[in-house]
Amino acid sequence: MSDKGIIIIGAGQAGAMTAAQLRQLGFTGRVTLLGDETHAPYERPPLSKDMLLQPAQTRCAIHPDDFYRQHDIQLRLGVAAVGLDTQARTVTLADGESLDYDKLVLATGARARRLPMLDALGEGVYTLRTLEDAAALQPALQAGHRLILVGAGVIGLELASTAVDLGVQVAVVEPAELPMMRATPRLLAEFLCAVHRERGVELHLRCSVVAAARTAEGLALTLSDGSCLTGQTVVYGIGVEPNVELAQAAGLAVDNGILTDRQCRTSDPDVYAVGDVAARQTAAGLPPVRRETWENANWQAELAARDMLGLALPPQDIVPWYWTDQCGLNIQLAGDMGAARWIVRGALGAGPCMLLGLSGDELVAAITVNQGRDMRSAKELIARRACIEPAVLADTQQSLRNLSRALPA
Ligand code: FAD
Ligand code: NDP
Repeated sequence: MSDKGIIIIGAGQAGAMTAAQLRQLGFTGRVTLLGDETHAPYERPPLSKDMLLQPAQTRCAIHPDDFYRQHDIQLRLGVAAVGLDTQARTVTLADGESLDYDKLVLATGARARRLPMLDALGEGVYTLRTLEDAAALQPALQAGHRLILVGAGVIGLELASTAVDLGVQVAVVEPAELPMMRATPRLLAEFLCAVHRERGVELHLRCSVVAAARTAEGLALTLSDGSCLTGQTVVYGIGVEPNVELAQAAGLAVDNGILTDRQCRTSDPDVYAVGDVAARQTAAGLPPVRRETWENANWQAELAARDMLGLALPPQDIVPWYWTDQCGLNIQLAGDMGAARWIVRGALGAGPCMLLGLSGDELVAAITVNQGRDMRSAKELIARRACIEPAVLADTQQSLRNLSRALPA
């Protein structure tokens, strides 16, 4: 590699971790981390939780303030990359400057999908993706006020939980028959529905917003079932769109994300893509997968850094995992949420509990509800595609740790 070094575009979770991995793995060349936000790289998970509940006590930074200087990482904030020439190997910045690279990493993440009908209402309508979004929303979550959440995905449900904790009255509008159906099995979706309703959340399922207006009472949303909701604040979380435009304009292969191989290399071997923006092919013959989780950003950062430095990649992928905190529940989800059959270990709704997902005889997924200590063993069993009798899985006297230790080497 020449002294041009490695440029990383996007100073979020994946970008910051790629820079850190490069140094940890011994790279001594130039590393430049470019971010269009003005904050040092920060974690997004607290934005829907602690950053709204106790903003003064919550720290989001991914690394300590002096980390980038100490590790000789050139962190350039508040500057967007607006052009990429993969032939000349240059990146153009919004201020007109041009930077040369040997290797480039696209870690541009994703943005909230927009609903123009709600945006048109102006004041009082929010999405949640950035630190600024959280800071703008926080003062609007006042006890006694009414909040309407559109979309019952992770953002909608985590915000519903946080807002109830703050004394806000919450209504949620969701077109699907249950909340969080995209990423969880029906059993858990039904459980979450019941938990939120017990906390006073109005869930309007199988409904969409057909009209929106500003009235004397506040913001008014008319739903497809004819009902009308009013509130001071509306937040919508209806999914994200990956920030692929730079890659697309540069001629890189894009299809719901920047397409990469297992090593996170794009269609140009000197350009990598990691995190929410990357649609990675995990194995030959399988379609590319774009994951929107904190762990995926960290994992792909390591893969890309290793590959750029010519180091071996782990032979096996990690079992995909994410968590959500809502209603006093820490819920962790690992593996294939489309598993055909689910075994309940414990009683859902009565203390710590697990759901174990089977495909045929193989364990392919696990969900812990306030039982995170068993997730490591569950992931080990999933990684080994263990075949265990459903009765044994359901038996809380059988330790998952022992079951995973008993697997042949
Ligand atoms: P991002 O974090 O989006 O970072 C991309 C960065 O690149 C951004 O700063 C963007 O502004 C910048 N950028 C884009 N284009 C350019 C450009 N042209 N030039 C310069 N900079 C650019 N995941 C979990 O697993 N558990 C959770 O509990 C959880 N909670 C979440 C809560 C919220 C509110 C949100 C929004 C997300 C949450 N996530 C959670 C998801 C997780 O935060 C994301 O998967 C992760 O942030 C992805 O990292 P990333 O670096 O790929 O993208
Ligand atoms: P999700 O994709 O999780 O959920 C979006 C929800 O909105 C789905 O239930 C979707 O239904 C629904 N929806 C889609 N279109 C409409 C519409 N027009 N009107 C009403 N509802 C609609 O996205 P979020 O916005 O909740 O989250 C955004 C990002 O933030 C994701 O990347 C997510 O991973 C991340 N995040 C992660 C958290 C975590 O992991 N704990 C916490 C918070 C955010 P359908 O599926 O039927 O389309």
